[in-house]
This record gives sequence, structure tokens and C-alpha cells, in this order.
Amino acid sequence: MSRPAVILDRDGTLIHDAGYLDRLDRLEFFPYTVDAVRLLNRANLAVIVATNQSGVARGLVEEAFVGEAHRHIAGRLAAGGARVDGWYYCPHHPDATRPEYRQACDCRKPQAGMLRRAARELDLDLPRSFVVGDRWHDLEAGAAVGARGILVRTGSGRATESTPSAAVIPAACVDDLIEAVSWILQHS
Ligand SMILES: [Mg+2]
Ligand SMILES: [Zn+2]
Repeated sequence: MSRPAVILDRDGTLIHDAGYLDRLDRLEFFPYTVDAVRLLNRANLAVIVATNQSGVARGLVEEAFVGEAHRHIAGRLAAGGARVDGWYYCPHHPDATRPEYRQACDCRKPQAGMLRRAARELDLDLPRSFVVGDRWHDLEAGAAVGARGILVRTGSGRATESTPSAAVIPAACVDDLIEAVSWILQHS
């Protein structure tokens, strides 16, 4: 039976937004990052990370580093008994300086390609799922597949909240990921 998921944005939601993260020493967890993921694991919700990484398309971040960063995050989560079930990123951009990444893809949020791919690969029930992010494009990708969206005020979240989207209404606006998790645990 397919199970619901919590689809997390990475930068500004799961970890601090470092601009274009290109070195592990610039990768910073929030104090609650590990606890938040572990609580979702215990609730038997699949935890997915879906992140736009246009720094790859712009030549600012190596694609291999994206995988390295995700392995690093996974290792720190595992040390705290927490687990991400699927990692997805979009390296593309329509104006990419690296031609091999220049395309109008279906995975760059607000497109829902990463969410659909995760659902196929991990048997997720998207209409019973949640998306957590600090930008409207995170929640718009979720709305495209019927998932409820929660806006966090970390990262760009405060600026996002002050400029409402014409395309999506959040199910909740909360201060940070740990508050989003408690909202989800009450509403799933
Ligand atoms: Mg973000
Ligand atoms: Zn893409």
C-alpha cells in the first residue's frame, strides 16, 4: 500500500540556506534538523528531499558535490537515528551557462517532476502527502500533485509569506521545520 510522504525543501528548510552551497564547511544544520526527521520516521511517513540546485546549471556548484552534500547530511542524520528515504535534485536551468544543463525541464520546482518521480520509485500517496518549504515554488510543486503545503519562516520564508502567491494557499505557515512536523503529526 502506498504511504504518505513529507517532501522537504533542502536550503532554508532542512538546513540553513548558504546561498549556493559548494563546500561542506558551509553546510549548517538547524538545531532541530535531526529531531524533525526522526519524528517523521517514527510516524511512518516517508521523508523525501527535493531541491532545486540551479547552481549546477550556472557553473557555481559541481553536480558531484550535490551528491556529496546529501551523503554528508544523511550521515549526520543517521548518527542521530534519522533517515531520509529519497534524495532528489534538479540541476537544470533554462538560462544555464553550462549547456548540458540548459533546458526547461519538468523537475525544477514549481514543476512537480521530482515529486512524481519519488512517488513512482517509492510508492508514495501524494494526495495524502505534505510539502514543506520556504518558497512558493516548493508549495506550488506540491499543489500540482494534490499535496498540502506548509510554509516555514526560515530561509526566505518571511519574505515569501509577505508576498502571497496567486497560485497556492498554504495549509499552514509556521516558524520552522520542527513546528511544521508537529502540525503534520496532528493533521496526517
Ligand atoms: Mg529553500
Ligand atoms: Zn530539472
